[in-house]
Amino acid sequence: LTILGIETSCDETAAAVVVRDEAGQGTILGDVVLSQLDEHSAYGGVVPEIAARAHVEALDDLIRQALAKANMTLADIDAIAATSGPGLIGGLIVGLMTGKAIARATAKPLYAVNHLEGHALTARLTDKLDFPYLMLLVSGGHTQLVLVRGVGEYERWGTTIDDALGEAFDKTAKLLGLPYPGGPAVERAAASGNADRFSFPRPLVGEKRLDFSFSGLKTAVRQAAQSIAPVSRQDVADICASFQKAVSRTLQDRIGRGLERFRQEFPDVSQPALVVAGGVAANKVLRATLQELCDRNRFRFVAPPLALCTDNAAMIAWAGLERMAAGLAADELSVSPRSRWPLDADAAAILGSGK
Ligand code: ATP
Ligand code: MG
Ligand code: FE
Repeated sequence: LTILGIETSCDETAAAVVVRDEAGQGTILGDVVLSQLDEHSAYGGVVPEIAARAHVEALDDLIRQALAKANMTLADIDAIAATSGPGLIGGLIVGLMTGKAIARATAKPLYAVNHLEGHALTARLTDKLDFPYLMLLVSGGHTQLVLVRGVGEYERWGTTIDDALGEAFDKTAKLLGLPYPGGPAVERAAASGNADRFSFPRPLVGEKRLDFSFSGLKTAVRQAAQSIAPVSRQDVADICASFQKAVSRTLQDRIGRGLERFRQEFPDVSQPALVVAGGVAANKVLRATLQELCDRNRFRFVAPPLALCTDNAAMIAWAGLERMAAGLAADELSVSPRSRWPLDADAAAILGSGK
């Protein structure tokens, strides 16, 4: 089975062609991503209207490029998978409508894919990985610990009650005068800083629930910066290093509890695994923290290549293939994009349908 994937939920326009063989092995045949970073960086964040227009301009050509790389035409494709939520509604409309148009014109099935499901299943494209497993998604818009039981079967164990982790990095960078996106800038500055100079809060550490909170950390950073103004380069480095250490310790505690809970619920799983996804997974200090935590708890730590951790269309194509292989029905062409679309049914019920 071969599928064309389309991703337009945030600030990356992406198209990919992915094939899945009978043994369940996936191969990426063509994968193109156009980041809109330059369009948004002057504003210090993603501007929805600019994003939507950029998707319109870029998508058709990216689809052509992905097909060309795969050495295929639309006739060789078995189905189309397009992200239909959650995300910025303008971009979602662009990607989903394009997917529908191709599906209609070629009379092929359309899979309306949840972006989070794409992140959740990516590791099965790159690694041999059986259900169930735990997935930590840490990006600019999401911070979630999710139990992946199977295709279409997700349980959200923890989520942020305020800022996403990537957002905390971005806001910290902004108030220290570092460039956008903040994550890489904070990591770079932290490399020459003293992580023990400031003792920043570690929100929710010690609590039984598996949620996260990062807004207090950002406030503490602001206060620290104000208390020593004017802030020197070394001060910035020290604040960044201390910030990263606080995040590390927080993740150790929160994820550590998640691993424990997994062991309790699945004592028979002989090789439990923690998978990471999202742009924050690029951070070497946090990666090392998670690796060490997994080693200590005898969990396998699975980190897909970075290009597949951040937003891309190969993961959307793969989620579509997994749905097909699991025998799940394709979507009607009347399907609507949803700016909010929690992965698990419980959360969906709380928010109301379609929200
Ligand atoms: P979504 O949340 O919808 O997936 P997104 O575009 O916000 O979308 P990603 O593209 O996966 O998410 O990741 C971007 C985020 O990752 C930004 O907040 C950025 O600061 C953060 N990030 C990138 N590199 C690093 C790093 N080295 N350390 C920490 N954070 C990083
Ligand atoms: Mg992005
Ligand atoms: Fe994403």
